Amino acid sequence: MDCIFCKIIAGDIPAYEVYEDENVLAFLDINPVNPGHTLVVPKQHHATLVDLPTDLACKIMETIKKITPAILAGVGADSFNLGLNNGKTAGQVVDHVHFHIMPRFADDGHVLWKGRDYQEGQAQQVLEKIKQSLSDI
Ligand code: AMP
Ligand code: ZN
Repeated sequence: MDCIFCKIIAGDIPAYEVYEDENVLAFLDINPVNPGHTLVVPKQHHATLVDLPTDLACKIMETIKKITPAILAGVGADSFNLGLNNGKTAGQVVDHVHFHIMPRFADDGHVLWKGRDYQEGQAQQVLEKIKQSLSDI
């Protein structure tokens, strides 16, 4: 399998490693949104959050909670965005599930998503369809 993050985990490609334990590796994103932008990945290859075993997802979240304050302190930030691009259409380029910890600074020039209004009746319609799908799981 030709996965760049598996290669980093195997030590075949260098990375600025921030943190490592039995299940998880965190390393600096090579093209950061801001300094300290860190990727947190499971050592096992899974493509998306939905494919990820739940216990591993919990371990990743534990790691994120543990290391984020240190990352923020290291770069002098007090806020961060936590990102997960899940699927190609959502901007996932590397098919090895990874969370982005993105430190934020006042006036760093980044903007958040803009919300859009629902059309009349659309929210109810969408809700019903989702509930129908949920009843199948
Ligand atoms: P995504 O669009 O969510 O799949 O994000 C992939 C991220 O991986 C991007 O932010 C890239 O800058 C980052 N990236 C790609 N290759 C490397 C690498 N060799 N070392 C560190 N980060 C990388
Ligand atoms: Zn991989």
